[in-house]
Amino acid sequence: MTETLPALDAATIPQSRHLATAIPGPRSTALHAERASQVTSGFGIALPVFVTRADGGIIEDVDGNRLIDFASGIAVTSLGAGNKRVAQRVAAQLEAFTHTCFMVTEYESFTQVCKWLNENTPGDFEKRTGLFSTGAEAVENAIKIARAATGRAKVLVFDEAYHGRSLLTMAMTAKVNPYKLNFGPLPAEIIRAASANPLRPAQGLAAGAEAALASVEATILEHGADTFAAMVIEPIQGEGGFIVPAPGFIPGLRKLADKYGIVLVIDEIQAGMGRTGTLFASEHEGVAGDLILTAKALANGVPLSAVTGRTELMNAPHAGGLGGTYAGNPLACEAALAVFEQFEDGTLLANARRIEQIAREVLEPLLASTEIVAEVRGRGAMLAIELADAGTLAPRADLAKEISAACHAQGLVTLTCGTHGNVVRLLPPLVIGEELLRDGLDILARAIADAAK
Ligand SMILES: *Cc1c(COP(=O)(O)O)cnc(C)c1O
Repeated sequence: MTETLPALDAATIPQSRHLATAIPGPRSTALHAERASQVTSGFGIALPVFVTRADGGIIEDVDGNRLIDFASGIAVTSLGAGNKRVAQRVAAQLEAFTHTCFMVTEYESFTQVCKWLNENTPGDFEKRTGLFSTGAEAVENAIKIARAATGRAKVLVFDEAYHGRSLLTMAMTAKVNPYKLNFGPLPAEIIRAASANPLRPAQGLAAGAEAALASVEATILEHGADTFAAMVIEPIQGEGGFIVPAPGFIPGLRKLADKYGIVLVIDEIQAGMGRTGTLFASEHEGVAGDLILTAKALANGVPLSAVTGRTELMNAPHAGGLGGTYAGNPLACEAALAVFEQFEDGTLLANARRIEQIAREVLEPLLASTEIVAEVRGRGAMLAIELADAGTLAPRADLAKEISAACHAQGLVTLTCGTHGNVVRLLPPLVIGEELLRDGLDILARAIADAAK
């Protein structure tokens, strides 16, 4: 773990926390005021700090502070935001050409990215891939493909799901505020079913996969099994609270999808690309989706997303039915190829598993030593702490906010999530050094202990 950085990638910024001012400092505060005078107020902000450089596990700001990065730009910059090999490949592509549009004239890197995804995603069957730009676009295209292939319309989604902010995907997302509030009417044919949240089972259901699956099947039958084109599930629910589903739930969905001829779409946009210690989080479940979605860490911050899946599904839409001006942009494809190269020797996956081990060692004692930590959960470098009152399990969003604010003040960038906003999530880059990781975890553990007093 001291050797976390892949050989070529010495980070470009000192890998230590440094506080030069209060967080945010005066320059960030001034820039934030300017932002407010120019930028729509419809964007939220986790930490109003303006960045000059970022790499490894560090974000450097305009006031000279060096913050520990436990966010990775929401699970995107897994290889460090200043990753050298990504920068080199993108720079070379910039010199050659920035864009042709893959629907106008072609370039080989697009094919190579598709080939890697076809070969490395779960599922021992012939596959094809389409590239797009954002995660929401990948989700939308998966629905288009599933509808074209099945001739059916309905889409099954789950409690606590997050699939994006576009018109279709916000309807698929579970949480109303902030994602859907005031933005209706929403698209039709989206049906929601119970998930298998081990800590908080759906209303009226016993905990565990069996009860949830029975409820899902009842929902499918109630709406007509032969009317569903797709069911879409995250292998670990992300924005919904880093919920690892009860064991057996996702394999059970696989069986239901097969039984009723429904396309199983696995949304690995947040959990995929090595984040959980395997290349894809569905590997932990031993399940292959018919379609699998990647984005976020796929190109380490250059916008790129993909739908990969069974050839007979992927080739169902008519030629010209899929695409997009920027879909699979050459800069993004080069970035993805640089990412793939760096996964080759297994170091990054080992890092993700080691991050989990260290984080659990520091955070799990808080389960017994405080009355506010209901669960420490997740896989690999996708970990979370749920805050709730002991006994009643009443969610404590106020504590998540307070703890996050204390971390920010100490120079640790953390994010919250969860349907009830009571979860603090950890998404450090997979290249973070052990010392920096432990410094960040100590800050977090202290903030939790303080909040528990
Ligand atoms: C972030 C996310 C999306 C949406 O991706 P965007 O690039 O923001 O459109 C979809 N699904 C999951 C699971 C995500 O975490």
